Amino acid sequence: MGETLFGRIARREIAADIVHETEDVIAFRDISPQAPEHILIVPKKTIPRIAAAQDEDALLLGKLLLAARDVAAKEGLCEGGFRIVINNGRDGGETVPHLHVHLLGGRQLAWPPG
Ligand code: 5GP
Repeated sequence: MGETLFGRIARREIAADIVHETEDVIAFRDISPQAPEHILIVPKKTIPRIAAAQDEDALLLGKLLLAARDVAAKEGLCEGGFRIVINNGRDGGETVPHLHVHLLGGRQLAWPPG
């Protein structure tokens, strides 16, 4: 875990509402939720963004998606549905340079996104 904001949350140096944790992944509620349920799923390894992921990260990336599945189930989102989003770089809307999956649900989400 590096010195990123999310690395510091994973180390409990910064408080967050943590909802799920495994050896490789941590999930916590977004500080500025865009839906009734808005949870960030983050690999403990500091990968800055999906464009910077390496082939050797394949297993970890799979675990990240499966953790999103587990959190969606835990939060009761599977019946109504949910969305997972990864923002990459300036045009993608990335603001924290530590890879994370947004899990959004609890309301009807618009498509296409803005
Ligand atoms: P990005 O814009 O990089 O895709 O997403 C970063 C997300 O991190 C944003 O949705 C933002 O609200 C959230 N965020 C930023 N700072 C904090 C924080 O200190 N704690 C938590 N829980 N979420 C944060």
